[in-house]
Amino acid sequence: MLKKKSVRDFDLKGKRVLIRADFNVPLDDKLNITDDTRIRAALPTVKYVLDGGGSVILMSHLGRPKGEVKEELRLTPVADRLSKLLKKDVKRLNDCIGSGVKEAVSAIKPGDVILLENLRFHKEETKNDPSFAKELASLGDIYVNDAFGTCHRAHASTEGVTKFLPAASGFLVEKEIEYFERLIQNPEKPYIAILGGAKVSDKIQVFERLMDNVDTILIGGAMAYTFLKSQGIGVGGSKLESDKLDLAKSILENARKKNVNLVLPIDHIVADKLANDANTKEVGREIPDGLIGLDIGTKTIDKFKEILKGAKTVVWNGPVGFFEMDKFSNGTREIARFLAGSKATTVIGGGDTAAAIMNLGLQDKMSHISTGGGASLEYLEGKVLPGVAALNDK
Ligand code: AMP
Repeated sequence: MLKKKSVRDFDLKGKRVLIRADFNVPLDDKLNITDDTRIRAALPTVKYVLDGGGSVILMSHLGRPKGEVKEELRLTPVADRLSKLLKKDVKRLNDCIGSGVKEAVSAIKPGDVILLENLRFHKEETKNDPSFAKELASLGDIYVNDAFGTCHRAHASTEGVTKFLPAASGFLVEKEIEYFERLIQNPEKPYIAILGGAKVSDKIQVFERLMDNVDTILIGGAMAYTFLKSQGIGVGGSKLESDKLDLAKSILENARKKNVNLVLPIDHIVADKLANDANTKEVGREIPDGLIGLDIGTKTIDKFKEILKGAKTVVWNGPVGFFEMDKFSNGTREIARFLAGSKATTVIGGGDTAAAIMNLGLQDKMSHISTGGGASLEYLEGKVLPGVAALNDK
């Protein structure tokens, strides 16, 4: 089991702690933050360092400036929100490296918080350039990674920087490692995965890896239609990966060989078009021509719940219907509510599934909601995330 050092393992008194956070928040046209969940999520680690007598230098990316300064992607709104939430002045710098930054950081005192400018204004960040990483590292005494969403990328601020400083996880990343390691190494059985979302092809490796240790995989979302079609079942005009039918077939065969129960929907909510004012109805396993499957039906929901009742561990990645539209969100909502009341260890992959749970206000009812979409998928694929691997071993 991967055991990595945490910020708790260091004496922070008088130390400058360089924290990689994930402040990649959504902004509206007027550059107002429309959802500050990610900023709030970073606060426990920041406060812990400050309470421990350290000072904090925060760094993050925002959007995709691709190595250029983009005024609309400055971290100014983040600094303002951080100041409010921490109830202290957070000094935002105009860059993340260079003499001005060095000077400001050298004057930092215990209890102070500085926010560096958007890391991706420099192309060296995503290229994991060693001298850029070294410059970042020169700003701190200890490096802490609390940005799980970028841990699957070997960037200067997630990987390069660890070559020059003691490196530990923040509270968010610590919890991600704890839960994903449990899933990979020793999940309590029965272990059930729910996979949904758009495409089978995005999740082939997840299927392969999961089939080595889950008992059951429940399949919903558009990817279910590719599986159903591969079994000769009509899916009407549903979203389909018609070039992945053989792949779906081989996953089903593999599941049989490995004794994994792979469960496909037995009924569907179908519509004549993908719109809120569409005509909808519930049909059985076959979807008639001209209709589109957009959610799992009530019998499927009941069947999934019946199976989930016995679970000790559940991991969920991908909504089981087109949940962004109210009419097709029932399946995702019902499964979410069921898991919220379950005693099993429940781990929710990042991205859409996490968003769906947040919308329902059920985030506190799950054991763990991942803060990284791509990163959580790669963890489940059994890959070692470069940003995690680079942290010091315990
Ligand atoms: P993914 O990023 O692969 O997890 O896919 C998530 C997307 O799949 C969401 O935008 C869902 O609305 C979409 N999705 C789920 N079920 C369906 C469906 N039956 N038809 C079309 N799109 C779907």
